[in-house]
Amino acid sequence: MSKVTKCAKCKSEKIQMKEVSVPSILEVGRNFPADAYVCLDCGYAELYFRELDYTTRPH
Ligand SMILES: [Zn+2]
Repeated sequence: MSKVTKCAKCKSEKIQMKEVSVPSILEVGRNFPADAYVCLDCGYAELYFRELDYTTRPH
């Protein structure tokens, strides 16, 4: 996984990484760990799921 160092939108380097959990759309009560990279200049955020299997494989 590559680290995000620049905002994809405004190219700012003021990126803050936050650990978040994203609720699943398919399974109620299930959360997926993810890294959120938030631009402090424009507010643009990108989410990177830690385990991609979660998003593609049905349980
Ligand atoms: Zn930005």
